[in-house]
Amino acid sequence: MAQLYFYYSAMNAGKSTSLLQSSYNYNERGMRTLIFTAEIDNRFAQGKVSSRIGLSAQALLFTPITNMAEIIKNENSIQKVHCVLIDECQFLTKQQVEELCDIVDNVDIPVLCYGLRTDFSGELFAGSQYLLAWADKLVELKTVCYCGRKANKVLRVGSDGIPMYEGAQVDIGGNEKYISVCRKHYTEAIEQAKLMGQGLIPKVPIGFN
Ligand SMILES: [Zn+2]
Repeated sequence: MAQLYFYYSAMNAGKSTSLLQSSYNYNERGMRTLIFTAEIDNRFAQGKVSSRIGLSAQALLFTPITNMAEIIKNENSIQKVHCVLIDECQFLTKQQVEELCDIVDNVDIPVLCYGLRTDFSGELFAGSQYLLAWADKLVELKTVCYCGRKANKVLRVGSDGIPMYEGAQVDIGGNEKYISVCRKHYTEAIEQAKLMGQGLIPKVPIGFN
């Protein structure tokens, strides 16, 4: 029986590396994988999953209107697909997570989803919400805050070095950076940023050293 997996983390936890390693393991055994990534992510080449340690693989792109079930079923009818791997799965819609459940349950192909649990304001992404609700296996890819605690939040830091506490959920490719931190240091950083925004304390870039 195939299963639906959700590998989730804050940023920088090696999600893409883990995805590429899993795909490699299948390919090494002569098994075919399909890799998807969100079209929104233009940090690297389009249609490609790349990891920070230099691995990469071609990927199909998905947008909110992509019919995941149709593409996977079609590919599987051309040549047997043994595993589907999805990067940036937080950008899946509810409908697309339902389609992936259909693939697992009715076509019996395992689906491995990799993505973020929450955005920079601590809210669940839609894809993550339904994967948390419906996946057979939830696996946390851990990363640490500068203080050594487990990082479970993401700070979005502007080009001025000040954490952002407002703005669109999706803003990949801007000048901002994302920093993985623990809950305590997330809350502290946001409180400081709000006081800076109100002019109550001087604007000092966030420093984790
Ligand atoms: Zn911390």
